[in-house]
Amino acid sequence: MLIKMFSTNTVNAHFRMGFLFFVCSLICHQVIAQKIVEPKVLATWSEPYAPFRIVGNLYYVGTQELACYLVTTPKGNILINTGLAASLPLIKKNIEALGFKFTDTKMLLTNQVHYDHVGAMAAIKKQTGALMMVDEKDAAVLASGGASDYEMGKYGVTFAPVKADRLLKDGTIVSLGGTHLKLLHHPGHTKGSCSFLLDVKDKNKIYRVLLANMPTVIVDRKFSEVTGYPGIASDYAYTFSAMKGLSFDLWVAAHASQFDLQKKHAPDSNYNPEAFADKKGYDAELADLYKSYQAKIEKDK
Ligand SMILES: [Zn+2]
Repeated sequence: MLIKMFSTNTVNAHFRMGFLFFVCSLICHQVIAQKIVEPKVLATWSEPYAPFRIVGNLYYVGTQELACYLVTTPKGNILINTGLAASLPLIKKNIEALGFKFTDTKMLLTNQVHYDHVGAMAAIKKQTGALMMVDEKDAAVLASGGASDYEMGKYGVTFAPVKADRLLKDGTIVSLGGTHLKLLHHPGHTKGSCSFLLDVKDKNKIYRVLLANMPTVIVDRKFSEVTGYPGIASDYAYTFSAMKGLSFDLWVAAHASQFDLQKKHAPDSNYNPEAFADKKGYDAELADLYKSYQAKIEKDK
């Protein structure tokens, strides 16, 4: 029996299998250990900011510059954006400081799949078991950790990859515990950049709130040279006109500086939803971005 078990053939087979296993684990290890590089990290991106209630069941839980939002409901909470990978403890602390449980996070959303907005998504998903939902056009980049992004892909993997649990389209409604968020597909900055519209009840008033992804242009190359994103110029054109026509009562954005967070809500100031009713500021910001988009189109000619 023993002799049969260790016949030359069996030993060879065992050796071959062992060798194969060794090679496989080397490859797997390389994939897992693929280095995540955040190309640029500004100081304000990591600076803490006192979390606060924006309006009704909508809260700010981000850093000084990287806006993250928590929508609380009786059925659990929705977290929108995470900041950098290192923002996780900060966001968790912010959620808890407001009196909510981090583990009550049931859904994860994002305005766009760049590392400064989804850097901690994989870890938060793992820690909370929340479902990741993303604009369908951003799903592939999210799953590749940014490596397949038309522009940021040149840096390789810039965040821990996440496989989405649900794909969203323009107009998709995401609902939890009586709150409904409508996805607005606003492509250009990434292929699946998006904004969210939600109605928030505050005492007797209902506010329509826009969580905007402002269409900033990040490529220096001509749009026609961006082979990884054919149609980028027309996507921007679509987004500018779609965003121009939006109506809402309050607005905030993926970057705090885009809506002047510190002017509208200095740390520890009182609850004041109206501070975010700044349609003028929104129009001006959008007009500014449109100008730089137009200048680029001209330069590309
Ligand atoms: Zn971005």
